[in-house]
Amino acid sequence: MFRKIEHIGIAVKDLDSANRMFAELASAELLKVEEVESEGVKTSFFKLGETKIEFLEATNTDSPIAKFIEKNGEGMHHIAFDVEDIHAEINRLKDLGFQLINETPKEGADNKIIAFLHPKSTNRVLIELCQDKK
Ligand code: ZN
Repeated sequence: MFRKIEHIGIAVKDLDSANRMFAELASAELLKVEEVESEGVKTSFFKLGETKIEFLEATNTDSPIAKFIEKNGEGMHHIAFDVEDIHAEINRLKDLGFQLINETPKEGADNKIIAFLHPKSTNRVLIELCQDKK
């Protein structure tokens, strides 16, 4: 079961300028900036109530974010749902026939383990499952 929208991810070319823009737009404070080296991304988070907004900037040209921006330009990249037990959710969704990009969860930003679903099986919306590291 998905418990809530944990965050919405937005792909940007320039993280610093996105951070300045969003701080002004939402009158919110930047929560943190974090690099996930294995994914080739630098991320930032803003917390708004129960939900966060994540901005993602590529740190190299092979990064999935670099490829996304090349193809689609900047913009909405994924929706992340909070789950209690990511392994159980992966199995549940696999049994239902959803395609997963990550059948084994991996380390994400913000102290989470994460897995992505293939957008092919979800109306072209990239979905991230995330679970707090215990
Ligand atoms: Zn995310």
